[in-house]
Amino acid sequence: MKSQCFIMQIATEDILLKVTNVCALCYDDIHMGDTIHYDTQRYHYLCQSCQEQRSELMNEECKIIEDEEGGLFC
Ligand SMILES: [Zn+2]
Repeated sequence: MKSQCFIMQIATEDILLKVTNVCALCYDDIHMGDTIHYDTQRYHYLCQSCQEQRSELMNEECKIIEDEEGGLFC
């Protein structure tokens, strides 16, 4: 896992109200206390499972190796 690409955080009321309350990829609801991951390259929050999928596709520079248009993500 390339931990420098993401900042792991616990969702707080502040984040949910001021930033987002859904995952930027799958649009799943984020709830207070959930583990979320801030993508430091794309400046959005991902849920746990999207972060895992993403990090598998990333190279060491946090770049997506696969073509995002390929329909790999829900
Ligand atoms: Zn997600």
